[in-house]
Amino acid sequence: MLRTHEFKVFPVIVPVSNKLKSINFFLVKRNNGLTLVDAGLNTDKCWDYLDETLKQNGHIHSDITEILLTHHHTDHIGLINRIIKQHPVPIYIHPYSIPKLKGETKFIQMHFEFFKNLYQEMGCGEIGSRQADYLYHTAIQGKDEKSHWEFREIDTNPLLGFDIIKIPGHSPDQIAFYHQNSRILFAGDLVIEHMASNAFVEPDTFGKRPKTLVQHKESLEKCVALSPRTIFSGHGKIIEDPIPLLKQRIKEIEEKAIEFLAIVQSGISTASEIAQYLYPYKYEKQFFSVMSKVIGYLDYLEWQGRLTPVLEKGVWHFYPIGINGIRS
Ligand SMILES: [Zn+2]
Repeated sequence: MLRTHEFKVFPVIVPVSNKLKSINFFLVKRNNGLTLVDAGLNTDKCWDYLDETLKQNGHIHSDITEILLTHHHTDHIGLINRIIKQHPVPIYIHPYSIPKLKGETKFIQMHFEFFKNLYQEMGCGEIGSRQADYLYHTAIQGKDEKSHWEFREIDTNPLLGFDIIKIPGHSPDQIAFYHQNSRILFAGDLVIEHMASNAFVEPDTFGKRPKTLVQHKESLEKCVALSPRTIFSGHGKIIEDPIPLLKQRIKEIEEKAIEFLAIVQSGISTASEIAQYLYPYKYEKQFFSVMSKVIGYLDYLEWQGRLTPVLEKGVWHFYPIGINGIRS
């Protein structure tokens, strides 16, 4: 438990056997409320851990006054239905996620077209089409149960004593909640103590593709500038004195980018070919995250002016730019 004179944080740390190590979410007790920051996975285990944490601190479910979401991913919204079935509370989230969570037909269609075109243009062919279909089907699942959630849009105004810090990259809607006096930051999946977080490629609310790795790096820099003392992360350990780790993650992005540049310089020019070259075993099994990673680094190098994309027969090819700005 972390206690300041203004609030107490009761972390709910649910161990998992995969590489994430744990699913974390947090109860924040203020004078006039009990806020849940994120809502875990929809499993009995997460539910029991929440139950236990409430009990240990003298609370019951109906004491929860609102839910704040750092982003919309499944492992951060899982228990919402179970909680609001017992006791309805408002759910605060970035406006970008609302059409997605509500499963609005227009959004799902846009989402589908986005991935279909993206994977074609990245040279993924048949696998790309299959993956776009798969993402379409996951998007329509569970939309009915979310349609009655009471969403409140988070804007830039402080909320429940927290500053709102937009930290896109891992997802377009990711938000951190910063408590200035105690220098506590709830940062979703921006930074994980034991592994680098992914910058997933997803459309924003307008169907545009942000350069997610560039955003992710800028979000890490934004958090360095805030100088937090503690980061409550969505997975793994609670991070005390997080500045060295944030700087390390920024450095790792630059180092990895150099490796990607060397591959492009060796003559492998499409995102799909690079993905298959670097991750031959994961390419099909973990297609979405592998392609996100490769596209993220190609974007990053293009943004730095080290690569130029050229559309050839409907597929993007990436070429290194020489010192004088000419394709080398
Ligand atoms: Zn996430």
